[in-house]
Amino acid sequence: MVHLSVVVPCFNEAEVIDAFHSALIAALEPTRETFEICYVDDGSSDRTLMRLRQLAAEDCRVRFTSFSRNFGKESAMLAGLRASGGDVAVLMDADLQHPPELLPRMLEMHRHGYDQVVAQRDRSGEGALRSALSRLYYRLVRRCMDVEVVDGAGDFRLLSRRAVDCVLSLPETNRFSKGIFSWIGFDSVSFTYRNVERAAGESKWGGRRLLNYGIDGLLSFNSRPLRLAIHTGLCLFLSALGYALWIIANVMLDGVDTPGYTTLLTAIVALSGIQLATLGVIGEYVGRIYHEAKRRPHYVVSETERSGAFFPSRSALKTAGRTGPTA
Ligand code: UDP
Ligand code: MG
Repeated sequence: MVHLSVVVPCFNEAEVIDAFHSALIAALEPTRETFEICYVDDGSSDRTLMRLRQLAAEDCRVRFTSFSRNFGKESAMLAGLRASGGDVAVLMDADLQHPPELLPRMLEMHRHGYDQVVAQRDRSGEGALRSALSRLYYRLVRRCMDVEVVDGAGDFRLLSRRAVDCVLSLPETNRFSKGIFSWIGFDSVSFTYRNVERAAGESKWGGRRLLNYGIDGLLSFNSRPLRLAIHTGLCLFLSALGYALWIIANVMLDGVDTPGYTTLLTAIVALSGIQLATLGVIGEYVGRIYHEAKRRPHYVVSETERSGAFFPSRSALKTAGRTGPTA
């Protein structure tokens, strides 16, 4: 059994994968630990898969799983953890934003008995707007969520075998790993490193994707937004009651008042806004229940380092003069 499994989700990382691989090997070999690298190709459309095949052919410590389409980083990390067999697993990005030089230090900290070692990046070199927004988000999350999520603590972390088993035993479809890692508990330790720019290629997290990820995170670990809706409704009901009493008192003292359209309209618009927002929140949860109830697998695997020979890719079939499996 190997000691260390490095899990690397890759989505269109052909430009940087070779540099990452050499840096990783250079960092791991001096540690004299046995290791394996579990790459996961998350349905890349560039040459990533081809590179992974070559790397796996050249080095038996390299393994890979390839998805039939893009299933997202969460699914890729799950597949990598499932494939991993080491006593310790480390999750890393392929873009060199998670410096492999830190691995020996993480292993050392694990030796002191920690089940989770988290490398936390600072926000140096990041756009002012983005870092302000993320700071705001984490403050909101900390207030709303039942589990603790730390700013800058991404997915660069080391997990002991029992922590990995624990993560894998959680069956939910909607996986928000930052929350899951915090939920499983165990002794964890973190240290900060200087943020690095992506070495090549571009980030897959545009503004919209990041926003959706944020909403996912907020909703997948608690039911507090529902509670908030109840509280807002209750507050509104009480203030409406107070207002009605005030009007009744006015009528009794001064006689019938002229009807106020503005008040009426404001009340209607405000209330329907709140109702719509509440419906949206409920809808999100119902949608989640629907997703979970379908019990679909998190991803579909099209190829691994072992199956590669049995399921030749379509391009390989074409070069072999056949048109495809149905021909
Ligand atoms: N990634 C993935 N599937 C996706 C998007 C990203 O496997 O759908 C991988 C990507 O290849 C990289 C890691 O997740 O190894 C982090 O992605 P990225 O660098 O784009 O995110 P950022 O660092 O900008 O947050
Ligand atoms: Mg990155």
